[in-house]
Amino acid sequence: MVKMQPYVKNWYDFFEEGKVMGLKCNRCGSYEFPPVATCHNCFGTDLSWVEMSGRGKLVAFTLNPYPDPPFAEYAPFIYGEVVLEEGPAYATMILGVDLDKQEELYERLPVDVTAVIQQRDGYKFIAFEPVG
Ligand SMILES: [Zn+2]
Repeated sequence: MVKMQPYVKNWYDFFEEGKVMGLKCNRCGSYEFPPVATCHNCFGTDLSWVEMSGRGKLVAFTLNPYPDPPFAEYAPFIYGEVVLEEGPAYATMILGVDLDKQEELYERLPVDVTAVIQQRDGYKFIAFEPVG
């Protein structure tokens, strides 16, 4: 496994517990997802872990036919921009989409999505899938 910043490692550890966690700035209340060391809004460094709703809206997407090697086995898949209920935007894998119906999905944007934790060799990561 690659070396990572402690707050990034914590983020992955929370996935093992089935939790989707983000950081909330104790100064201005902004959320960070994925976690970063400094608040994007006020540059504060006093951030606390909070459980995220896991809900958001898919606002844009593209087909990723040739992903990087770690995700090649998922190819081709939809890679999309999700705006989380708490505010942050997160670009990630979108599961549960019929690749023959991308146009239909595009017409429906923004589409409600929910977080799904995926198991990989030795670790978990987060993806999203359309609701309903
Ligand atoms: Zn802040």
